[in-house]
Amino acid sequence: MPDPRGEFARIAALLQRLPRGERVVVGPGDDAAVLRPRPGRDLVATTDTFVEGRHFLRELVTPSEAGRRLAAANLSDLAAMAAEPCWALVSLAVPATWSAAACETLEHACASALAAEGAAVVGGNLSAMPADVGRLVATVTLLGEVEAERAWTRGGGRAGDVLAVSGVPGSAAAALALALWGAPPSWSRVPDELRRTFLAPACRVRLARALAAAGGVHAAIDLSDGLAGDLAHLCEASGVGARLDAARLPISEPLRAAARALSAHAGQERGLLPAGEGALLTHLQLAPGDDYELLLAVDPAAWARSAAEAEQAGAPLTAIGELTAAPGLLLRESGGAERPLPAGGWDHFPTGN
Ligand SMILES: [Mg+2]
Repeated sequence: MPDPRGEFARIAALLQRLPRGERVVVGPGDDAAVLRPRPGRDLVATTDTFVEGRHFLRELVTPSEAGRRLAAANLSDLAAMAAEPCWALVSLAVPATWSAAACETLEHACASALAAEGAAVVGGNLSAMPADVGRLVATVTLLGEVEAERAWTRGGGRAGDVLAVSGVPGSAAAALALALWGAPPSWSRVPDELRRTFLAPACRVRLARALAAAGGVHAAIDLSDGLAGDLAHLCEASGVGARLDAARLPISEPLRAAARALSAHAGQERGLLPAGEGALLTHLQLAPGDDYELLLAVDPAAWARSAAEAEQAGAPLTAIGELTAAPGLLLRESGGAERPLPAGGWDHFPTGN
């Protein structure tokens, strides 16, 4: 067990460097924090855990980058509910392989990223792992507020809704695939623009708040299981199907170049990635990858206004298809042919074309 005086001193020192949150009745230092939501608001809560070796590799991700990504994962969940981040709890279970300085760097980066979006760390916990556990486990619990009864959910989508995404889904997966391509894993093969999408994902809280204020979004989900998987979640919750248009999926030059580079790399090393540049690009765009972008179902009558709001918020949306009354997910290929995306998710998708 860690020396409790050391633990409290570390938490106190960290929290002193951070801005104190609003509507914090009792802040850090007591047994629990006391927080006061605004009248007329619903409280929105989420939590995410990063396990070293599973959610990040220490060879590729610095403590500071791990902290930022942990914050991003939680902020993204609140954005998907149209909520405003307010308060956070940060908990670390620390193995002997991590120095106190590395833990503080992670915590500080996480807290700073949360603070940049309006959330204050109001408490936390540090505990030592048993000697035989060599991996860090970091958890953030994030609380936010949304106007009462106005939270977005996955379940409000309707047939005819415009499906839209922010950013360029697939970029984070492409960055990671390129970094893991050789031995040892390295970012040196990854263009800066792609690397940033993985290490410092854009936060879509402001976009979500602007769109929510304008109205017209029927359903939302953030992309953490990949476009195909998360679309399946949204469709299931909404009781609808969807048609995606492959030609309209957003693409960037670095993503196209990554697909080209990965497809040129034949052999076992490619693992589960499909053969062929086009198939590989579609795979990157649809398969699991931590983009932390938003997938939205927008009332067609509100689409032009939503797109303009997103433009103004500096996070343009791309229309990529529509929700359908018929269940199931379809992908319309560039040639016009349609093929089903299995409801079970992209992982089971045949990649032989
Ligand atoms: Mg989510």
